[in-house]
Amino acid sequence: MDLKSLYTQIITENSRATHNRHPVLGATNSLEGINPSCGDDITLQFKVEDGIISDAGFIGTGCAISQASASLMIDLIKGKSVDEARHYIELFFAMIKGEAKEEEVLDELEDAAALQGISHVPARVKCAVLSWHTLEEALDGKTGVSDHEASEDEDGGSYEEDGDGLTLG
Ligand code: ZN
Repeated sequence: MDLKSLYTQIITENSRATHNRHPVLGATNSLEGINPSCGDDITLQFKVEDGIISDAGFIGTGCAISQASASLMIDLIKGKSVDEARHYIELFFAMIKGEAKEEEVLDELEDAAALQGISHVPARVKCAVLSWHTLEEALDGKTGVSDHEASEDEDGGSYEEDGDGLTLG
């Protein structure tokens, strides 16, 4: 099996995985992230105790990439410190922008590295980063709903698919 097929398999399997699909009892942070351009909707909940993300889960609907990305992210951050989670977020964004070192991505992001091919599919980038943006904002104390169409300016727009003449396929 080549790497591309393996990555596709990881994304498909994780998009259907149910072990992270649950509300979190006693959650300290909860934020709903929406990607209107695809219809992805993820409510992320987690519990921080002594600087450690002791439990995390999500409830959501949307495309396979958004759902797989959320589940893979939770697998990665659960049991880790808030600082480590922030490092993973940074590395994930760098990977999607094609700016991360391959070894670092494979060593640290584990199965979430399967999403690196998305950097070549601009229309799906928002799907892949939705849960990670939501986590970042939730760690910053944001609650309620975060609409990622409306917050493009804050993100700097460096990996938006529209307005820069990119063609698909
Ligand atoms: Zn999507």
